[in-house]
Amino acid sequence: MEAPPGGVDDMTRLSYLHEPGVLQNLATRYELNEIYTYTGSILIAVNPFQRLLHLYDTHMMEQYKGADFGELSPHVFAIADVAYREMINEGKNNSILVSGESGAGKTETTKMLMRYLAHLGGRSGVEGRTVEQQVLESNPVLEAFGNAKTVRNNNSSRFGKFVEIQFDKTGRISGAAIRTYLLERSRVCQINTPERNYHCFYFLCAAPPEDTQRYKLADARSFHYLNQSSCIEVEGINDAEEYLATRRAMDIVGINEEEQEAIFRVVAAVLHIGNINFAKGKEVDSSVIQDDNSRFHLNTASELLECDCNNLEKALITREIVTPEEIITRTLDPESALASRDALAKTIYSRLFDWIVEKINVSIGQDPNSKQLIGVLDIYGFESFKINSFEQLCINYTNEKLQQHFNQHVFKMEQEEYTREEINWSYIEFVDNQDVLDLIEKKGGLIALLDEACMFPRSTHETFAQKLYTTFKNNKRFVKPKLSRTDFTVVHYAGDVTYQADHFLDKNKDYVVAEHQDLLNASSCPFVASLFPSLPEESSKSSKFSSIGSRFKLQLQSLMETLSSTEPHYIRCVKPNNLLKPAIFENTNVIQQLRCGGVLEAIRISCAGYPTRKTFYEFVNRFGVLGPELLEGSNDDKIACQKILEKMKLENYQIGKTKVFLRAGQMADLDARRAEVL
Ligand code: ADP
Ligand code: MG
Repeated sequence: MEAPPGGVDDMTRLSYLHEPGVLQNLATRYELNEIYTYTGSILIAVNPFQRLLHLYDTHMMEQYKGADFGELSPHVFAIADVAYREMINEGKNNSILVSGESGAGKTETTKMLMRYLAHLGGRSGVEGRTVEQQVLESNPVLEAFGNAKTVRNNNSSRFGKFVEIQFDKTGRISGAAIRTYLLERSRVCQINTPERNYHCFYFLCAAPPEDTQRYKLADARSFHYLNQSSCIEVEGINDAEEYLATRRAMDIVGINEEEQEAIFRVVAAVLHIGNINFAKGKEVDSSVIQDDNSRFHLNTASELLECDCNNLEKALITREIVTPEEIITRTLDPESALASRDALAKTIYSRLFDWIVEKINVSIGQDPNSKQLIGVLDIYGFESFKINSFEQLCINYTNEKLQQHFNQHVFKMEQEEYTREEINWSYIEFVDNQDVLDLIEKKGGLIALLDEACMFPRSTHETFAQKLYTTFKNNKRFVKPKLSRTDFTVVHYAGDVTYQADHFLDKNKDYVVAEHQDLLNASSCPFVASLFPSLPEESSKSSKFSSIGSRFKLQLQSLMETLSSTEPHYIRCVKPNNLLKPAIFENTNVIQQLRCGGVLEAIRISCAGYPTRKTFYEFVNRFGVLGPELLEGSNDDKIACQKILEKMKLENYQIGKTKVFLRAGQMADLDARRAEVL
């Protein structure tokens, strides 16, 4: 059977499930602005790069409300609706996992899902700061502080996010919790054309004059952390308007005026810190504040942070070394002082971000009585660039974890269902990635070796790389590139990625310079001081080492535990082109993304098995018209199913204990014959 001219809305209905067929189907639909397509229960969403307003209006939401899955065109609303109904009817927790590469549309998709869930679980007619309103308005706040323009996406989220929406017994939203993962810290201090720093910096510089005067701000171009890139303005983003919109959203999520003031004071302070420069001091390896201009920014930063100006200066250009006998003060050369300055800025900013997330959580509130929830995961997709560093390893590690979860769900669940229904089924092989996960996270794995290197004072990235080479010499998932002394390649499920070990040690270290900690802890601004709470006595002294990698591993473990206790639904976002333009569909680009997302593998498994299953009742209900005479005199649906299938002369289908299992294409065939008789 030929595919219909408009394509099919479920890939498993394609008679020939090969790559060209799959691509052709997606491309055909994309051209017609049909951006959503199912692969069984997985939703594929191709970024339209244009607003398709009719797709998301209230009328559309109403249509999907309670509709049978598959009856209407594929849609994010349909996925959210299934999740909601499973939760209500079966009392199960559900999760929706949205994945895809940067710019593929994950965050937009997540927002639609949240809007639909708020529509289902919201109170009609109630205005103002309802829980559902707060959940929705958390998005613009988080985006202002955690999103930035990158090469791949003008509004790229630089953190992962899991939003857990809690519902009460009647199905109303009663609370929410937002967990975030691994904010990209380096962006605060270092950007290149055509990228930007975090949105909030530009928003603040474009604020009304009374605000910018209060923070002693000038044009964004005058700040080093912003002007390293020639990109200051972004098409489609009005920074001045966004500043006001961010403030309004902050009001709604419960960040009060005073807190907002403090937050923006800290944001401004970070900009001023970035303009403090250093010159060589009189003594060897020492430095001084470069000039009056730098001193102005030093003073302003300390005013904004309400900390002592001399102490700020000291914290930037000296280090105290604690030995058992005494405390030695060592001076820093200008290069180290700059590094100290940037470390301070990054720490302040990431603490600020965490504070905002925590505040939103407290303000929205958790429902302690909620037994039902829907989690929505919006997290970075697999990354492989020319230069890959520690961040890419963490991101790809996340994707390995999620891929395993996906494999387990799609494939193992499939097998389990066949076994449960006692139908014949020869096991189909699929690529298991446990071995990559072992390489990264197991005892003695990559993360552990990195921590070890970070604790050992004489380690360098070279010694770290050498250690990896010897340890994983015989590991199938690890390769030492021929001509390199510090690169290493990991054979990920989605392809090989070569990582440059250069900054791994620094990036993994998770400590705040003691001088910075003390300085800000002593701030007379309670807000600033609360970002740097005093450490318990023993943990500050003990050599208990904490690393970004290990912390991330724990966060991931807990995320996976949460996900495992839910019924998952998958949305794979696809970026049809790198120009970020509508109507352009690049085949090779798309196929690579389908491969990375496990979509092709899922299709393969589906194909080999029985992609369509219907309960006997559903089947008879739908296809009874094909043989009304067969239904007479018996109300055994199973027998009726068998008779209908025999009459239709289908082969290789299976009759299970409660369901009919059809091969790929058979459902489409039956539908076509049904259409003939109707
Ligand atoms: P990601 O989170 O995957 O990096 P985004 O969700 O931020 O990607 O999407 C990138 C851009 O693509 C958005 O800013 C928007 O312009 C466009 N986009 C994504 N999804 C849609 C959609 N469903 N409708 C219209 N535009 C979209
Ligand atoms: Mg995003």
